[in-house]
Amino acid sequence: MFCKNCGKEIDDNATVCVYCGVATGKQATVLEESKKANGFGIAGFVVSLVSLWLGMYFMIASIVGLVLSIVGMVMAKKCTSCNGLAIAGFVIGIISLVIWAIVWIVVGAALIGLTT
Ligand SMILES: [Zn+2]
Repeated sequence: MFCKNCGKEIDDNATVCVYCGVATGKQATVLEESKKANGFGIAGFVVSLVSLWLGMYFMIASIVGLVLSIVGMVMAKKCTSCNGLAIAGFVIGIISLVIWAIVWIVVGAALIGLTT
């Protein structure tokens, strides 16, 4: 494509003209960032959701899901529309963590009660 400012030929995927530095109007970088953020958000959402079931064996899954969701949320800051899954993953991650923390405390207390 050609730069709309200086008219020189530049890469089709360029977001700014290499000759004059003017933005081409293509927001490839932002789009890519959003995709990445979405990836983290989706991963966080899925891992958090899975951790709801696997928390008993892998409480670490809740923490991983939470961390992935937070990364997704931070990265998707520029793009509020693709932030949904990251926020959902974050909320589910917290719920999963709280549920399993309570379960472990109850189980732990029960076990201590049995042994004493
Ligand atoms: Zn230019």
